[in-house]
Amino acid sequence: MQRTHELFQQARELIPGGVNSPVRAFKGVGGEPIFFERGEGPYMWDVDGKRYVDYVNSWGPLIAGHADPEIVRRVQETAAKGLSFGTPVELEVELARTLCQHVPSLEMVRLVNSGTEATMSALRLARAFTGRNKIVKFQGNYHGHVDALLAQAGSGALTLGVPGCPGVPEAVVADTLALPYNDADAVEQCFAEHGGDIAAVIVEPVAGNMNCVPPVPGFLETLREVCDRHDALLIFDEVMTGFRVGPQCAQGRYGITPDLTCLGKVIGGGMPVGAFGGRRDVMEGLAPVGGVYQAGTLAGNPVTMAAGLATLERITAEGAFEGLEATTAELVDGFKQRADAAGIPLAVNQAGSMFGLFFTDDAPVTRFEQVKACDLEAFNRFFHAMLEEGVYLAPAAFEAGFVSLAHDRQAIQETLDAAERAFARV
Ligand code: PMP
Repeated sequence: MQRTHELFQQARELIPGGVNSPVRAFKGVGGEPIFFERGEGPYMWDVDGKRYVDYVNSWGPLIAGHADPEIVRRVQETAAKGLSFGTPVELEVELARTLCQHVPSLEMVRLVNSGTEATMSALRLARAFTGRNKIVKFQGNYHGHVDALLAQAGSGALTLGVPGCPGVPEAVVADTLALPYNDADAVEQCFAEHGGDIAAVIVEPVAGNMNCVPPVPGFLETLREVCDRHDALLIFDEVMTGFRVGPQCAQGRYGITPDLTCLGKVIGGGMPVGAFGGRRDVMEGLAPVGGVYQAGTLAGNPVTMAAGLATLERITAEGAFEGLEATTAELVDGFKQRADAAGIPLAVNQAGSMFGLFFTDDAPVTRFEQVKACDLEAFNRFFHAMLEEGVYLAPAAFEAGFVSLAHDRQAIQETLDAAERAFARV
């Protein structure tokens, strides 16, 4: 690991913590992050030439795997015609149409450059539309580094143990109400108290930033019903779950239609992207139609649009998702069998092509408290054993895993063989 170590030393001098996003830093699991330089299908290679089966997939976007030849070809073809125009382009209309076709709640959509921008803008729009200020979110859910949503957030904020965040004035989070995830009663109670002041509920319909925790039956239904009763908007943050847990996202999978939806990751196929959309009457509040200001120099960028369109074609093709979900089930069942055989208490969750491994005997894992009570040291040992074996899992116990269309029998078998040896060392 000579080259990766040298690069990390240089990076630490130039970039805070040596990384441009905190969860990359191996803070939770210990050790130094690995620098990668090439990917192909389910595999990626580090700068020292070692190959890994990848279950991070750039934190979700690479649902077709690394460097898919057709997707790369379409990106190259588009890039050759110009990287950005700052004007409307045909490809953004095509991506908007594709999104509206597949995502049940979308009547209109606006494209942005990250998931953070999507949730930030959706909040502003919801507050303007309802004329109310309060926002309900859930503990352990993560919606990007939006000031108002960093309270009790998941993902890196959780791994690094920052409950709030220095630099976010109290006034900015004073209107944020953080409730326990999967707790319908807490939502009812909160609305009984604050209903008239709540602009929106924002939720990860499958939580993916406190590891992977699907909604319990009735939870999303209650959110929809309570929001309707109190004239609040329901916002699904599908930045992670969009085209990851089903070809119609989580809203199609669970049959609940939110008022607004935030997207990112898969819809850009690995290029920087975000989107938010939903009801036409709400979306038309945005400038230049309405007064809610929101903008982006590179939003709707043609190269990103090309990558997104090529990726969405792949995942929405007949039978593609079913195959991906079956592969994911094979992997997750395989992990569970091997942990059982080694006498390691392991609980597993799966939603579409997302999965979670929990070192606990308290199954099923449905609540944030259970996630936090898992054996983090066991996870860390497993993570490092798998890394040595050439399997790249997310370097933190609170992150979901992702399977791609490129993960074939051989990649899955290699992973499970590695897991058998790794569990023996946990
Ligand atoms: N929402 C969710 C559910 C996410 O998982 C993430 C990122 N992991 C974000 C928002 C923020 O997206 P980005 O990192 O693109 O700003």
